[in-house]
Amino acid sequence: MTVERTLAIIKPDAIAKGVAGQIVTRIEEAGFKILAAKLIHMSPEDAAGFYIVHKALPFYRSLCAFMTQGPCLPMVLEGDHAIQRWRELMGATDPAKAAPGTIRKAFAASIEANVVHGSDSPTSAAFEISYFFSSLELCPRSNRGD
Ligand code: ATP
Ligand code: MG
Repeated sequence: MTVERTLAIIKPDAIAKGVAGQIVTRIEEAGFKILAAKLIHMSPEDAAGFYIVHKALPFYRSLCAFMTQGPCLPMVLEGDHAIQRWRELMGATDPAKAAPGTIRKAFAASIEANVVHGSDSPTSAAFEISYFFSSLELCPRSNRGD
């Protein structure tokens, strides 16, 4: 058993389409524990900082604009091998290539508007969780070590 935490985001396209609840249900049915969640509307600076690793890529500006077009729902998920298992549940970045049964296959419209985010490594999970949440926001209290 390798318990990990990962940063998931239900992206603005999913909130706008009204499928956030269905995505949360899939997260719960897959056995993840939701340690924290909040609805936020990112500024351009918020999105640029979050996606700083993609700064050199051609879709960076478009991606940042997409992520600021409305509210999104970042959350911290915990579970056995949570980083990899959440990425498997999301499906491939491009919904046309996503496997049946995945969230992106079910709800995503395009390679950009792909409804969910997931950390891709323990290092990025640590950066991304702390980008949105302080240790005081992680529930229950026992998860903070107090
Ligand atoms: P995420 O990081 O959101 O979990 P991912 O790890 O599957 O997705 P990345 O390669 O990290 O994919 O890309 C980050 C995000 O940038 C994608 O989720 C998508 O919204 C957008 N994106 C990726 N590739 C493209 C592309 N070719 N054109 C436009 N947007 C893209
Ligand atoms: Mg990624």
